[in-house]
Amino acid sequence: MNRRHWVRPIILALIGLVCLCSHRCEPLITEIITPQITEMTTPTLAPVETTPRPTATVIATLAPPVATPTMQPTPTATTEGETVIITVVYDNNAYDPRLQTAWGFGCVVERDETTVLFDTGRDGAILLSNMDALGIDPAEIDIVVLSHIHGDHIGGLGDLLATGVRPTVYVPASFPASFKRQVRAITTLQEVDEPQELLPGIHTTGQMGTNPVEQALVVETPQGLVVITGCAHPGIAEMVRRAGQIDENGVYLVLGGFHLGGASRSRIAGIITAFREIGVQKVAPCHCTGDLAISMFAAEYGDDFIHNDAGKIVEITP
Ligand SMILES: [Zn+2]
Ligand SMILES: [Zn+2]
Repeated sequence: MNRRHWVRPIILALIGLVCLCSHRCEPLITEIITPQITEMTTPTLAPVETTPRPTATVIATLAPPVATPTMQPTPTATTEGETVIITVVYDNNAYDPRLQTAWGFGCVVERDETTVLFDTGRDGAILLSNMDALGIDPAEIDIVVLSHIHGDHIGGLGDLLATGVRPTVYVPASFPASFKRQVRAITTLQEVDEPQELLPGIHTTGQMGTNPVEQALVVETPQGLVVITGCAHPGIAEMVRRAGQIDENGVYLVLGGFHLGGASRSRIAGIITAFREIGVQKVAPCHCTGDLAISMFAAEYGDDFIHNDAGKIVEITP
């Protein structure tokens, strides 16, 4: 029997209890990468088949570049720098009908020669299938950054590593020791505490909040900072505010889960006000943001609201 076919049910059984995101009850994951997975990650594993990546076409047909003639960068924003491409590979909804959907989040960030996978979704088979459909080879991934311990953000890691790739995995230092030990048995793991630059132009906010602790990814782009959140459990405005302190170019875009499902209209309005005060120019909420919050952000931001689901590709150019 193909190893992947019997390992996946084991992973899913171990995950079993799933964690909380938004209004859903999702128990904490403490054992996501099992010894069984460690054993199966041998060089004999067949690499995941990938197809050539239709980058230019996909960007042109599915996701017009964020940088448009109508865009108004902040006065201090540079118009030079590395083009950044963000591809949402895992979400509850599909922007690209070829992709599978499931509760969770994951996206790939390409900047210069670096490729980052931020969160893995819950189901590794869906993650790998979607990456394949989008022409993203797991071997391209240099680092994996996990936002927080909930299963819908880390559950796909085992299957990703089972393809044989060995990216460095960055996790909040407060992750369970058992999780960190199991990842270290397979690949390099780095613990994140304070805000830091992981690779040139790619930062983390560092650990924020409690129960669960979470980190956001912050990427320098030619138009300013892009903040990518998994679930924003510590508070989306707080996370964006801290991210904006990384440099003086301001926050250009906030993308990911805003964790406002079930939030009141007045609370959402307060978040939007905070975004405006921080100077956030564009928003691309998804995952656990909630329908009401998405509609209110869309109304407020107008042309600067980016419809964002699995398969969405956002290109930020000089
Ligand atoms: Zn989530
Ligand atoms: Zn969560």
